[in-house]
Amino acid sequence: FARDQIHNFAAGPSPLPQPVLEKAAQGLLNYDGTGIGVCELSHRGKEFKAIIEGAEANLRKLLEIPDNYAVLFSQGGGTTQFSSVFLNLLAYRRLQHANDADYAPPTVDYVVTGSWSSKAYQEAVRLSIPPAPGAKPFAEPRIAATTKPAKFTTLPKADEYDFSPEAAYVYYCENETINGVEFPADTQSPYAFPFDRVPEGVPIVADYSSSFLSRPIPKIERHAIIYAGAQKNLGPPGVTIVIVRKDLLVDTTEAMKLGGVPAVPIQSEFKTLADNKSLYNTPPVFSIYVSALVLEYLLNERNGIAGIAEANAAKGEALYAALDEAEANGKLRVVVKEKDARSLMNVTFVIEGEGREKEFLEGGEARGFRQLKGHRSVGGIRASLYNAVTLDSVKALAEYIKSF
Ligand code: PLP
Repeated sequence: FARDQIHNFAAGPSPLPQPVLEKAAQGLLNYDGTGIGVCELSHRGKEFKAIIEGAEANLRKLLEIPDNYAVLFSQGGGTTQFSSVFLNLLAYRRLQHANDADYAPPTVDYVVTGSWSSKAYQEAVRLSIPPAPGAKPFAEPRIAATTKPAKFTTLPKADEYDFSPEAAYVYYCENETINGVEFPADTQSPYAFPFDRVPEGVPIVADYSSSFLSRPIPKIERHAIIYAGAQKNLGPPGVTIVIVRKDLLVDTTEAMKLGGVPAVPIQSEFKTLADNKSLYNTPPVFSIYVSALVLEYLLNERNGIAGIAEANAAKGEALYAALDEAEANGKLRVVVKEKDARSLMNVTFVIEGEGREKEFLEGGEARGFRQLKGHRSVGGIRASLYNAVTLDSVKALAEYIKSF
């Protein structure tokens, strides 16, 4: 197959823009006339320095990241951040209470709306385990709201959240990639994340892995940490962006000396990464290089974040309209009923009828549709509409759904 015969609806790693890939292929062979490929250059040389600094500047411009936030290029995927946010924010809390003779483990509040926020919560539970049987735990993870009883097919409403007043942080996942629920961009929606209900001063952490760069980030300045793995809208897997408010960059070794917090591996300490401009150790140079090209492309060829958001809204509208029509005709079931809770990045649905799902997927394959199978944990169909998926691909899928 040629690339232009295929409509790739992968959930991640996801498709990348063709012009970026062409440029990256060239850079892999011979970066900017150096005679050396980009992955063969020193990460401390002037060429790579220009790449990573350019990427940061363009990311700041695209998302309007305020100056009091550091932008880190970290490793270990989103999964490592499940641990890192816990470890850094617990260290921060410990240092804030450095003089407490009887330091009490803080609560940490999780909003659990799908598979990924569940995993993050479970990691907080695991890392809270006391250092010895009978000793105090390091933290007390709580679920501040959850849609688990509804099988993660909707979002909580504002009055369904129960935040603790003194939590070390509040955690949520903006877009649940597997289940297909996403907090609406409209902060007035009843399903919007209730920033105003989070007690003042409590840091808010957001996992933006699968909606990063798909539209502007609402209330970016109310967040303490926003993180996202590259492999959806930014670049190839390997780099994870962490946007962290600078006052939260703390020396975790000092916190460890006070006791009452878990050990923090040096790779997980945000301050170390920030102090070393994300070059504490060898970074994932290829992933950062391609991400830099994508950021340039989004700014210059896609009309920035406003242009991207508009295109993604049109794609979502086209697909959900076709799905709603097919559901009304009894052909399939859309997983997320509430329009304000529907993900624009990962659209999930179930084909009704014995053997019909297989038929749908096989017919789709023949038409060039790829990677439509839902996540193995939930089944069904999932069409991921990341930035590099065109409206034409989405329209082709919508037509197929109507005709099926
Ligand atoms: N968070 C979200 C929302 C995700 O979609 C994923 C992976 O798809 C992760 C976290 C975990 O990321 P990784 O596989 O990079 O560890």
